[in-house]
Amino acid sequence: MRIFSGIQPTGRKHLGNYLGAIRQYVEGQDRGDPAIYCIVDLHAITVPYDPAELRARVLDTTAMLMAAGLDPSRCVLFRQSDVREHTELTWLLTSVTAHGDLNRMTQFKEKSAQQAELTSAGIFLYPVLQAADVLAYRAHEVPVGDDQRQHIELMRDIALRFNTTYGETLVVPEHRIPAVGARIMDLQEPTKKMSTTGSTEQGRVYVDDEPDEIRRKFKRAVADSGREIVRAPDKPGISNLIEVLSVVRGSAPDEVEREFVGSGYGDFKTAVAEEVVGLLEPVRSRYLELRPDEGALEDVLREGAERARAMASDTLGDVRRAMGVGPPS
Ligand code: ATP
Ligand code: MG
Repeated sequence: MRIFSGIQPTGRKHLGNYLGAIRQYVEGQDRGDPAIYCIVDLHAITVPYDPAELRARVLDTTAMLMAAGLDPSRCVLFRQSDVREHTELTWLLTSVTAHGDLNRMTQFKEKSAQQAELTSAGIFLYPVLQAADVLAYRAHEVPVGDDQRQHIELMRDIALRFNTTYGETLVVPEHRIPAVGARIMDLQEPTKKMSTTGSTEQGRVYVDDEPDEIRRKFKRAVADSGREIVRAPDKPGISNLIEVLSVVRGSAPDEVEREFVGSGYGDFKTAVAEEVVGLLEPVRSRYLELRPDEGALEDVLREGAERARAMASDTLGDVRRAMGVGPPS
């Protein structure tokens, strides 16, 4: 069972990333053979960014993943741009990617609408690069949050079309989306997902926020009308907090509802905040220990890239052969 997932080095990682994705990465280390995790700097350049900052953000994300429990001796952790096979495979896969499919991707529509100056072709091709990331490793399983469901469907279509067109070469991967916690919402606008690019600052809890900052954000979280602590379509704020508490505790949302029958919103928010502080505080302190040693972080990424390249170049050899690209071998 090969596991692969990617995470963007844009900004600081938030509670949604942690509960939807990073938590699954850590668990995947024991099942993956291997588990491969990639910091996708080439995805991050599809929206305006600062080149000098990008390198620093890659190291932030590396340290954050290790602080959360990724152990480079039990997984492959690397920087996407270090393995050039990703970009080559992207181009090769465009021949079996439908333009119309890319055009109807929700993330493309949302992110291109946010661009005032330039909608780059990169935002449009983003899902093909993502498909190349996974398919280059012939991964079986892709742990992601719910927002990536559509992209995984597309990469499955791409792999199937490749195999039909050029002969059986690629593995058609499956997503692994957690039952609870796959779509954590913005605390200020609970009808929108917590997001690095699209969220409010106060509605986004960072993994490395100080405990008091976390408490403040939960205290100010938008609650809904009424007073009951139950999940309901007209109670997106409280439903989101129930979901957060349920994932962090590892108990069912029903149990959370039962426990808080008769409690007020204030007490409930405090309980959620304390539980999240308890979860993130150790990660934050490990992060602060790991982040300053940039040499050690670069070493981890370099060793990861070597192991990743060996796997990806193997696939690329087969893909080129199947497509009739390059000299005969
Ligand atoms: P952006 O808004 O720029 O796309 P992001 O916050 O989605 O950034 P990514 O690096 O794109 O961050 O996502 C990393 C992983 O986190 C993906 O697997 C994604 O599905 C997951 N994820 C992102 N936001 C949430 C969320 N609110 N709840 C659960 N999982 C999430
Ligand atoms: Mg995203």
